[in-house]
Amino acid sequence: MNEMNQGDQPPQSESIAIRQYRAPGIVVTWEPARCRHAAECIRGLPQVFNRDVRPWIDTSRASVDELVEVIDRCPSYALGYHADDGRMRTPPGEGDTSAT
Ligand code: SF4
Repeated sequence: MNEMNQGDQPPQSESIAIRQYRAPGIVVTWEPARCRHAAECIRGLPQVFNRDVRPWIDTSRASVDELVEVIDRCPSYALGYHADDGRMRTPPGEGDTSAT
């Protein structure tokens, strides 16, 4: 059950470059290498984004619309999402990662 949402440790071997945090209606993604610690996310939804706890993203504490609104402010595109309603945010130039 908790195979996916505990991914807040440093990447260990190969391909955990993007971590996923699932909630009803949305999957939030976070790419640590892109994070510039601008804290837009923490300011916008401190109950969701909290660096003092693990995992540091708790998607259960906000609605899909709230998550989308704040994640759209992430200047580095470290944060992204794939919502069930089709909304999506991925880093520019990396194309759509939704295939498969
Ligand atoms: S807003 Fe984006 S760049 Fe800033 S701390 Fe949050 S994830 Fe990192």
